[in-house]
Amino acid sequence: MSLIQAVRGTRDILPGESSDWQRVEAAARTLLARAGYQEIRTPLFEQTDLFERGIGEATDIVGKEMYSFQDRGERWITLRPEGTAGVVRAFLEHKLYTQGGIQRLWYTGPMFRYERPQAGRQRQFHQLGVEVLGSADPRADAEVIAIASDLLKTLGLSRWKLDLNSVGDLEDRQRYREKLVAYFTPYVAELDRDSQERLHRNPLRILDSKDPRTQAIAQEAPSILDYLGADSQRHFEQVQQYLSNLSIPYQLNPRLVRGLDYYTHTAFEMQVDDLGAQATVCGGGRYDRLVQELGGPDTPAIGWAIGLERLILLLQQLHLPLLATIDFYLVAKGTNAEAQALTLSHGLRQAGFAVELDLSGSAFGKQLKRADRSGAPACLIMGDAEAEAKTVQLKWLASGEQQAVAQSDLLHQTEALQQRLAALREKR
Ligand code: ATP
Ligand code: MG
Repeated sequence: MSLIQAVRGTRDILPGESSDWQRVEAAARTLLARAGYQEIRTPLFEQTDLFERGIGEATDIVGKEMYSFQDRGERWITLRPEGTAGVVRAFLEHKLYTQGGIQRLWYTGPMFRYERPQAGRQRQFHQLGVEVLGSADPRADAEVIAIASDLLKTLGLSRWKLDLNSVGDLEDRQRYREKLVAYFTPYVAELDRDSQERLHRNPLRILDSKDPRTQAIAQEAPSILDYLGADSQRHFEQVQQYLSNLSIPYQLNPRLVRGLDYYTHTAFEMQVDDLGAQATVCGGGRYDRLVQELGGPDTPAIGWAIGLERLILLLQQLHLPLLATIDFYLVAKGTNAEAQALTLSHGLRQAGFAVELDLSGSAFGKQLKRADRSGAPACLIMGDAEAEAKTVQLKWLASGEQQAVAQSDLLHQTEALQQRLAALREKR
């Protein structure tokens, strides 16, 4: 009988890899909590209408990538392709705006897009994102960008670049749109098919095309930055000033329009320089019109989303250090020793250590080999002699240094040990 496999474009995150995910999630949680962001969890599926209205029908996501189906009650349902629309829906449904002030929110979880699977591009993938609702202040733009930059830095990624653009407001884009249509019209036959269709419906999207020929033509297209009105101009200049104040380097990219229709003013992307090849790990921007378009009060907003698969793939490719999973690997041989080891492992966990107990009962040699492979900085070894004396051999695996320690010292005088473990973790 043939085995059933995971659906194309989906992946299991196996035990060997999940610690990488946890490390990234933990770093993000810490940073976001420090900045006063609160987590929001919204459903994995929503009414199809939400995405059609919120993302825009002329986008790749809505046009080609959504997982939509009718449920048994004949409602049109879509597996969420991104997080912002659901967050805004919840913001409106629960009238979070009546709480006054600014909502700083973050989310993480799986997203679904019917795309051609390849490295860093899946049909079920994960994003971690932030949304700041209720502020038009350019400081909010700089704040969210700074958080994304801090997160990459905390994870050890130092070589990234930030592309920055402004797509202006509705009026600016109206002016710009006419210029774009005029520019692309003579090339219409050379554009990819999607871009041809978009020429009159949504010419900005052409700048976002991944077709090489279209991209080459778009290189010479007029720049949106030449069509910004005074207010848009001022907002954009302030964002740039704040980024400079924060020592966050950026480069202007007037062709960056992002894939979603609801963006206004600031748009940005962060790419990590993976030993030459570029990978976009973070995309975001301001969406001052979305809340109103979904039927809510006028609420300016800005956010970003990081693609976790791409980020983690990079961390792995760059061999950035992983978290030690456990502090001690505990091996025991002999009837009394094995029984006592169980009690000791339990006590050590209550004292705050991470402990893996070897349950095999195999010879010491085999158990010690497993200790080496476990990634633990130290191994605890117990035979019946140690059990009798209520001690244990503490062996530091990197140096081989070993000594007998009273079990009660391990359990009650933990400070020096914790410090040594922390110092080893620092070094990794
Ligand atoms: P791309 O141009 O690569 O298709 P996008 O503009 O569609 O990206 P966004 O909608 O801005 O991407 O999503 C933010 C981030 O989510 C991306 O920068 C990327 O890291 C990640 N992402 C998007 N689609 C996928 C996917 N199918 N698989 C894995 N990660 C993805
Ligand atoms: Mg895409």
